[in-house]
Amino acid sequence: MPAITPWEDGAPQFALTDHGRSAACARERLCSVCNTVMPRGAVWRVVGADESAAIADALAAGRPYRNVAPTLEGPGHRACMLYAAMVCPYLARPNARRGLSADGSDELTAHVVRGRARGGAGAVVGFGEYEYAVTPTRVLFRFLDVVEFMPHETADAHLDELRAELARP
Ligand SMILES: [Zn+2]
Repeated sequence: MPAITPWEDGAPQFALTDHGRSAACARERLCSVCNTVMPRGAVWRVVGADESAAIADALAAGRPYRNVAPTLEGPGHRACMLYAAMVCPYLARPNARRGLSADGSDELTAHVVRGRARGGAGAVVGFGEYEYAVTPTRVLFRFLDVVEFMPHETADAHLDELRAELARP
């Protein structure tokens, strides 16, 4: 169960993001997937095709990358994001069908719609640092300093990497 899924009347509300939980994730450095503390250092997130392409361009040009538009998507552990990239069909898609206006952040819960078409490339990206802003209604994240870039074309692209990650002592 993704940590950012709010509960209501005993049932998870997948389409919503609980502001308090997101704020706690940001302030207490909690993984947005498993809700446990992320160690100091890099954090990971899954990006869609557009952002993946922008990062690839920046890396190729030797420029620092920074997501200009803040996102509602919080960071997570490397293994959690590798996993999320494979089980959530929307994670590797560009921003179609979602966005800030829809109170976004539901990518991690999008596995409920698994089976719908999944297109385009995306990536699991490690960032050296994140910053956040907690507004009365939203929690916004910005990610800086790409330290790992793992683009994918297919849903199972990260399976071997995830296995290796989980096998670590
Ligand atoms: Zn985690």
